[in-house]
Amino acid sequence: MSLIEQLTALGADGLASIAAADSAAALDAARVDLLGKKGRLTGILRGLGALPADERPAVGAAANRVRTAIEDALTTRKAALDAAALDAQLAAGTLDITLPGRARPIGAQHLISRIRDEIVEVFCGIGYTVAEGPEVELDFYNFTALNHEPQHPARSASDTFYVVDRSTDAETWTGPEPSDVLMRTHTSPVQIRTMEHTKPPIYILAPGKVYRRDVPDPTHLPQFTQMEGLVVDRDVTFADLRGTLDYLCREIFGSQVRTRFRPHFFPFTEPSAEVDVSCNVCGGTGCRTCKGTGWIEILGCGMVDPNVFAAVGLDPEEWSGFAFGLGIDRIAALRYDLPDIRMLVEGDMRFLRQF
Ligand SMILES: [Zn+2]
Repeated sequence: MSLIEQLTALGADGLASIAAADSAAALDAARVDLLGKKGRLTGILRGLGALPADERPAVGAAANRVRTAIEDALTTRKAALDAAALDAQLAAGTLDITLPGRARPIGAQHLISRIRDEIVEVFCGIGYTVAEGPEVELDFYNFTALNHEPQHPARSASDTFYVVDRSTDAETWTGPEPSDVLMRTHTSPVQIRTMEHTKPPIYILAPGKVYRRDVPDPTHLPQFTQMEGLVVDRDVTFADLRGTLDYLCREIFGSQVRTRFRPHFFPFTEPSAEVDVSCNVCGGTGCRTCKGTGWIEILGCGMVDPNVFAAVGLDPEEWSGFAFGLGIDRIAALRYDLPDIRMLVEGDMRFLRQF
């Protein structure tokens, strides 16, 4: 068989084996067999050297035609195999994009968080920063440094949650006296912790949860949320306190509200006052919400007691300041006219979704 006949046979054979290849691996094997370094085409062309010079060009041209035909066939077959593989993959992983999606319900801020953030925003606008402290507190920060007498009624186990019972762990306990660890009853300990570590001037807000041994009723919860404010600077007066709280009340309840300061007693401020705002429901004429008085009590405040400055090593002759505290739950109840503050913590979505 002449070389040209061998090449023609190889071409026909090659196209047949390419057409028969049913996978990428089989196709590659056919390619190596036909065109590889040790493949059949190379084998045939090895006989080229034995031919007379004038016959070689015709054989070379035939070899090129066969090579091109085989290469074209390989390319076409590879494209066909790839397309088939993709079709199979798509068929296996069917995705129906017409199915309805799963709706993710959009939540909203809880009323307490919302009012807390609102008040924080009001005060951040006039230069205050937010301070934090632990909810499990030591007696020193919760009472002693805040000028509470040793026999102050708030220190009794009937008013305050003590965390460690004096009678247990007495043998192994190495921390503070067991009776000194309690759930903070107000956010005021943050005043002490801040003054211990920060040099005046101090302008802070301290929002957070506080705990008292109250039986839940429409106006009391054993856990509620307070917002503390503290200012320490030179020459701070009661007029500064009054102006600041007037501003706060107008920002929360609207520009029409009036405020009233009534003398009161707190161990850690002197003088102290309770602040009422004019009733938003009746406008001050008297109604069920304000119990006929036209006023609603919303916060306590006063000038920082010199004994408190002394407890944190600040000179009361040099520094002066004021503090205030308000119940966020109570403000929520007033602003949204809630008949019972327990609704705030019951987690009833029908109630919460209204706001
Ligand atoms: Zn009223």
